[in-house]
Amino acid sequence: MIQGNMQVEKFNLISIMKHAARWHPNVEVVTNTVEGGIHRIGYYALYQRIKKLANALDRLGIKHGDVIGTMAWNSWRHLECWYAIGGMGAVSHTLNPRLFPDQIDYIVNHAENRFICLDITFLPVIANVLDRLPKLEGLILLTDREHMPDTSHISIPVLCYEDMLADEPEDYDWPEFDENAASSLCYTSGTTGNPKGVLYSHRSNIIHALTAGGADVFNITAQDSFLMIVPQFHANSWGLSFGVPMVGAKLVMAGPHMDGKSVYELATAEKCTVSGAVPTVWTGLLDYLDANQLKLPHLRETFIGGSAVPRSMFERFERDYEVDVIQAWGMTEMSPLGTMNRPLPYWDDLSYEERMQVRCKQGRPAFGVDMKIVDEDGNILPHDGETSGKLMVKGPWVIERYYKAEQSALDAEGWFDTGDVANIDEHGNMQITDRAKDVIKSGGEWISSVDIENTAVGHSEVQIAACIGIAHKKWEERPLLVVVKKEGMNPSKESIIAKIAEEHAKWQLPDDVVFIEDMPLTATGKIDKKPLRKMFGDHYKDL
Ligand code: ADP
Repeated sequence: MIQGNMQVEKFNLISIMKHAARWHPNVEVVTNTVEGGIHRIGYYALYQRIKKLANALDRLGIKHGDVIGTMAWNSWRHLECWYAIGGMGAVSHTLNPRLFPDQIDYIVNHAENRFICLDITFLPVIANVLDRLPKLEGLILLTDREHMPDTSHISIPVLCYEDMLADEPEDYDWPEFDENAASSLCYTSGTTGNPKGVLYSHRSNIIHALTAGGADVFNITAQDSFLMIVPQFHANSWGLSFGVPMVGAKLVMAGPHMDGKSVYELATAEKCTVSGAVPTVWTGLLDYLDANQLKLPHLRETFIGGSAVPRSMFERFERDYEVDVIQAWGMTEMSPLGTMNRPLPYWDDLSYEERMQVRCKQGRPAFGVDMKIVDEDGNILPHDGETSGKLMVKGPWVIERYYKAEQSALDAEGWFDTGDVANIDEHGNMQITDRAKDVIKSGGEWISSVDIENTAVGHSEVQIAACIGIAHKKWEERPLLVVVKKEGMNPSKESIIAKIAEEHAKWQLPDDVVFIEDMPLTATGKIDKKPLRKMFGDHYKDL
């Protein structure tokens, strides 16, 4: 081999923040804080604090490879933790506060967190499981002295974050290490069994961020003000905590304030041009805008992913608010970017209706992700937009094995099975038809629960809908639609079924519709079908 003559620089996440501090020193990181009020800081000042934090963590005895948990909303302090911990060669581990206590203690123990950095509001969550965390050495409360809560009931040392930083020097000698060293850890919500850890590396995160900024992906530039609503604890904050500072864009964080009113006020005050969140957050914003007859003058586009984007959401955003909606698909195991649905030249020749159909798909992978659909025996399926099969992926930011697992998570050819069922059309647009475990199997045919849900929420009086397969004597399973009505509305079962029938064959229609008050959601804000299956498992038993 003839070696190239170029410089070799090992990737370290801290290089992103060094760059932002040096070349975009006054660009702001803005947070709607847990304590109340808006906080703002420039990238230069933020980097100075990151170095102070690294010194403070050294003083605590944190070493290369140690794991430090964070249970916090998006904030400048949380961002400082990610960069300082990763930059010094330790691992920052996001804990989702919405998990059940059993899952939290399992995760903290499994990952062997030495310390946990947390928002004051999450002290009760940790206090609740503290006696089950024997290896935890201490807590770091992400606040200042003034807002420190009473911690006299906590049996391990509790430190105040701002006190820790106060007297530390603003110099830090970042160590050099292999770019494949672990930087951060995120567990998937564990819809079945225990949560599983995905351990990202400096290399995987940086390559992911380099791609994510691209024009056909997140398209983030130094001119943008990015409203990062997706929490840092959800799937690596979609890589935005790295991708946004990398290009020197302004980073605006909603913190815990994700209701329609707060999102509207922050987006407007900070002139946010781009944003990213799961569909449930956007429903809240759209309802607030509708009710108060408001507009979003600055927002150019928004990324929606995490679960399928219903057609009605595209239409409301674009028709009523002139905001482009870009659908993204990904998963924790993919850092999380899988596909984006950006326009292609052939769209120009499509009718509105045809265009809408393509836009409801999950899109195409950017360079770095390879993708295929296969049948049960592993045979590759055609890209005809109809045949659906198991969606398999590979790439440098795709998982190889779960944290501490002895076995690889890949098949013999190196592909990772996403657990999603999808089809791919002739233009390469991938469409998720279901999660493998949610597919409804009726009389040997598959019914896509996602498809049915998306049409159902197009009914003007339906707030949110979940379609589940219920055991049925004759057909094996039949679909049942579980609906939460819009406030003050009273849709009939018949009208909802009629809406779904506009786009689906008769055999695909739910046999019944039931109404509930609140939809159970997972820790990442998606519909949680497990309790629904329990609640309605017998619904068709007498049929
Ligand atoms: P969790 O399962 O813990 O909520 P993830 O966020 O990693 O965590 O979930 C990834 C899954 O979410 C994907 O495998 C897919 O089923 C679903 N998903 C993500 N984005 C989309 C989308 N745009 N459309 C449909 N499903 C999606």
